[in-house]
Amino acid sequence: MFYKSTRNSSIRVSSAQAITQGISADGGLFVPESIPSVSMDEIVKLADMNYSDRAFFVFSKFLTDFSDAEIHYCTDNAYSIKNFETEDITQISHLFDGTYMLELWHGPTCAFKDMALQILPYFLTTSAKKIKLDKKIVILVATSGDTGKAALEGFKDVEGTQILVFYPEQGVSSMQKRQMTTQDGKNVGVCAIKGNFDDCQNGVKAIFTDNEIKSALDRKSMIFSSANSINWGRLAPQIVYYISAYASLVKDEQITAGEKINIVVPTGNFGNILAAYYAKQMGVPVNKLICASNINNVLTDFINTGIYDRNRSFYATCSPSMDILISSNLERLLYILTNGDDVQIKEWFNMLATTGRYEVTDEIKKLLVNDFCAGFCNDSDTKATIHDIYSKYSYTCDTHTAVAVKVYNDYKAKTSDNTKTLIASTASPYKFSSSVLEAIEGKIPDMDEYQMIDHLNGISGYDVPESLAALKNKTKRFNVSIEKDDMKNFVLQNLGL
Ligand SMILES: *Cc1c(COP(=O)(O)O)cnc(C)c1O
Repeated sequence: MFYKSTRNSSIRVSSAQAITQGISADGGLFVPESIPSVSMDEIVKLADMNYSDRAFFVFSKFLTDFSDAEIHYCTDNAYSIKNFETEDITQISHLFDGTYMLELWHGPTCAFKDMALQILPYFLTTSAKKIKLDKKIVILVATSGDTGKAALEGFKDVEGTQILVFYPEQGVSSMQKRQMTTQDGKNVGVCAIKGNFDDCQNGVKAIFTDNEIKSALDRKSMIFSSANSINWGRLAPQIVYYISAYASLVKDEQITAGEKINIVVPTGNFGNILAAYYAKQMGVPVNKLICASNINNVLTDFINTGIYDRNRSFYATCSPSMDILISSNLERLLYILTNGDDVQIKEWFNMLATTGRYEVTDEIKKLLVNDFCAGFCNDSDTKATIHDIYSKYSYTCDTHTAVAVKVYNDYKAKTSDNTKTLIASTASPYKFSSSVLEAIEGKIPDMDEYQMIDHLNGISGYDVPESLAALKNKTKRFNVSIEKDDMKNFVLQNLGL
């Protein structure tokens, strides 16, 4: 299996090369040149395996340049009970009739990003060895809150790597900020940006392709890579849990083998829902993929009209990890839907960079709505939904997951579609205790972060994740806050260039 750049189909690299590089030199994203298939028999058999072996099965189709022993080394180390709260790694809760929550947040940082970022360091160091890269790998991360911490936990003290994380100073929850600024490890750095997530992401992308920095890095025997979902090594692990969840639903006799399900995903950078799309293309029976946004609803408009237009106000919401106006992974979907038309992709994404807008052809619009539905939800409906499912089902969910539940309820009311449905539950409610408590109790809690955790524990009955409770006794290590135009200098200084 080789990987091509979405902006130049003649670039063809191994998975080890794609993972090490993160992004193609032409600014395109790496995509597998064909999508491997899985049979229903194979999916059903997965149900009797543990999560690590399920992951091995999926990766062996994508990482064909890795040996079996190398893939096992990665999966066994990442998907182990020493990193996750549950032996099963993910958990499925039956919310109401035919509606299931796929809880992806039982890892060390309490968000679904752990599912990929626990394994990415193993993929990356293994890949570097395979291509005989004898350089230090510097991971640059732009985060809307959850990726940063998950990447820091994954890469802390990993030999041969260094990691720098940029987050929007006003754009993350207080728990997210506390998680990042208290991070330990010798090879980590964290920096706040006076700007929003798109500023962080654009800054990081510009540094990746800055020739001055690149040659300075080269002289010091360093190379950049990415832990954002532009890296294929982030996406592949996300395909695993959709296939795995389908197998579990069959095993638990919630669905019959071959029965179609809907999948609802609270979406920001379009990584998580793209992974579900890949799972569908591989053979998981999926009816609709439902893309749920908060009021930064650029994707809702795109799926419904075929026009992507980021020229609009940016809102800080109570689901901050989805406060994004430039969804990078859409580029991969459009590459697939245009049958690998790299010239067309380049044109659209150049337009996005220069005018902030592009419109796809009627043919692509049709293909889009074949697979996808989209909707969005504002903050007051998000909170009302948390309140509603708490009082009806005694289930406490976080703000991002609530966006997905609300958009799904709207979809169901509109279409009367009774297909069984899997909703991606992307964060622990403890990560957003203030909004969750406000939603459930109807008033903004007058407590500090740790009192809120205790209080939410009393209300939800869910165990408090140890990693969050432990933050109380940690000291803040990172205080820096800079203008977005100073990111390049910060990187130069931090790396001693
Ligand atoms: C990152 C994140 C999302 C959005 O996922 P994408 O892959 O960027 O679409 C949703 N919810 C939570 C809690 C997140 O951390």
